[in-house]
Amino acid sequence: ADMFSKSSNEEIASWKKGEPVPYAALCQTFEQIEDTTKRLQILDFLVKFLISVIKLSPESLLTVIYLSINKLCPEYEGLELGIGESLLMKAIAESTGREMKKIKADYAEIGDLGMIAMNSRSNQPTMFKPKALTIPHVFKTLKDIAALSGNSSQKQKVDKIKLLLVSCRNKEAKYLMRSLEGKLRIGLAERTVVVALAQAIVLSRPNIKKLSKEKLVAELEEAASVVKSVYSELPCYDLIVPALLEGDIEGLKKACKLTPGIPLKPMLAHPTKALTDILDRFENVAFTCEYKYDGERAQIHKMADGSMKIYSRNSEDMSNKYPDVMDRLDKFTKTETKSFVLDCEAVAWDREQKCILPFQVLSTRKRKDVKEEDIKVQVFIFAFDLLYFNGESLLREPLSRRRELLFSHFNEVEGEFAFAKNMNSTQIEDIQTFLDQSVADNCEGLMVKTLDGNEATYEPSKRSRNWLKVKKDYLSGVGDSIDLVVIGAYAGRGKRTGVYGGYLLACYDPEREEYQSICKIGTGFSEQNLEDHYKELKEHVVPEPKSYYILGEGNKPDVWFAPVKVWEIKCADLSVSPVYKAAVGIVDSTKGISLRFPRFIRIRDDKAPENATSSEQIAEMYSDQKLNTVKNDAGLGVD
Ligand code: ATP
Repeated sequence: ADMFSKSSNEEIASWKKGEPVPYAALCQTFEQIEDTTKRLQILDFLVKFLISVIKLSPESLLTVIYLSINKLCPEYEGLELGIGESLLMKAIAESTGREMKKIKADYAEIGDLGMIAMNSRSNQPTMFKPKALTIPHVFKTLKDIAALSGNSSQKQKVDKIKLLLVSCRNKEAKYLMRSLEGKLRIGLAERTVVVALAQAIVLSRPNIKKLSKEKLVAELEEAASVVKSVYSELPCYDLIVPALLEGDIEGLKKACKLTPGIPLKPMLAHPTKALTDILDRFENVAFTCEYKYDGERAQIHKMADGSMKIYSRNSEDMSNKYPDVMDRLDKFTKTETKSFVLDCEAVAWDREQKCILPFQVLSTRKRKDVKEEDIKVQVFIFAFDLLYFNGESLLREPLSRRRELLFSHFNEVEGEFAFAKNMNSTQIEDIQTFLDQSVADNCEGLMVKTLDGNEATYEPSKRSRNWLKVKKDYLSGVGDSIDLVVIGAYAGRGKRTGVYGGYLLACYDPEREEYQSICKIGTGFSEQNLEDHYKELKEHVVPEPKSYYILGEGNKPDVWFAPVKVWEIKCADLSVSPVYKAAVGIVDSTKGISLRFPRFIRIRDDKAPENATSSEQIAEMYSDQKLNTVKNDAGLGVD
């Protein structure tokens, strides 16, 4: 696409320098994006809009970025939208004077509150035409709404939403509703927003039109890769956007680096199916094996001012979940330390038996506002990486060096803190023994990591092949468990009368913001599980499947749920299915992928529904499995 062609967005065209960004201009951009599936075009629409923002109202760039990814602030600040649909319906009813009954009926039929709000013309007389909405005003109101809590907050929320709704023109109501619901569903992935931001910054340079085409393309690519990498180290637009506006890409590189106090996106591991996979992957490379502890990831930060924080895998602040650990942190350092970032796993610990307890025990701890005197489950911290130490980022150091610093500056404390147990032999027999030992010690298996050189740096947010995970039951099934979202349930019969007898599960497509059905599940549940699930999930029943549930013909559970619960599932294998929709369009144009013989393992409260296994991962598992069958048939396969 021609990067300098004029935008077809009239809302941008009619907006003048110095005026706050009209909300209509953003909404029109959203509409353009929603109307196409071509990635380059999506990028182009957003880039053009961002360039206008940079030129006309740069102080709103940050807000525009947040509205485009539908967030209000960084994860660790914990302010979220996701207003319930009954509240939104109420606001629509009250602002338009339409009956609630009619709106409910529309919702049952159309399933999109955005469309309903847009089409519900007001039949209330208005004395004057309200002023057009601006980006700063909409964003501030959204933040205020999200921050409301307490007894009368429902009414206050409805009132604020109503005030916005009456000022909406054209398509604004549609996108406003979707923002409030917490799902924009226009096919705009956060990755694309990051790339668009980088490109818009480059294209707003004063002399940019003089560059040759090749040079320009190279600049754009370089900028995108810098911004992406900075973002994975410092996932905070509040710092990145001003740095870009102030100092362009070079300035960003200088100003924004891993900083204690801002959780970085953790490095993730690639699954393997056999110990021989490790040797295939790490032929001629030094590697190390560590226990894979079965708990919850904990990123521990000490900031320059001496304060400490613990963050989850999803960058949530968990410091008040672990007041006991917070109290002990000082004991874990051997030397005077100014600042650090440790990558750890927190596991439940039996003080009497001195052994690790299963993940299920850890998950009985409350997640918020834990009081120390109420703690029943003890926690042990196993540190496996050091990412920052005394003012220096270690991300680009090899693991061998990071580990050296970890060992020399931190202290093992009995019953509280230790380094992840490791073993450096490359002999398959030794690895097998170490794996068995890890299982005997109540771990999930092993993590196998490269040790030296460029291949052993820490790669924030990547599922890297420099970290392999080997789970104990890797030889059965697909090598890894799968984390799925519960979207429906079937009434129980016989022994399961009174609870749900089976469930409908889905994977997540972050690109399209859709949950795609993947299988029905009825095994792996204890009686206790069945009761607990029933109690928890009946609170989340919704009358209709969400419009962003992608379902097959036969997916007809007796009740539907809002997407809230993530479960870890194991299965025998994956197969292409006409009934389910997981990864539809990737492996087959109309059929999805389904799990065969799925079995419930546990609840994953540490994962948000958006962190469930993605459609892309499902497709990848399916193709890997096919490859392996071919290998086995040819007699080259695993032992
Ligand atoms: P799962 O936890 O189900 O394996 P995941 O997507 O959360 O899936 P993976 O990349 O599969 O994460 O596995 C890495 C996880 O294992 C880390 O997030 C961490 O919580 C845990 N872990 C336990 N021990 C280690 C270790 N020694 N090194 C790295 N990660 C470890």
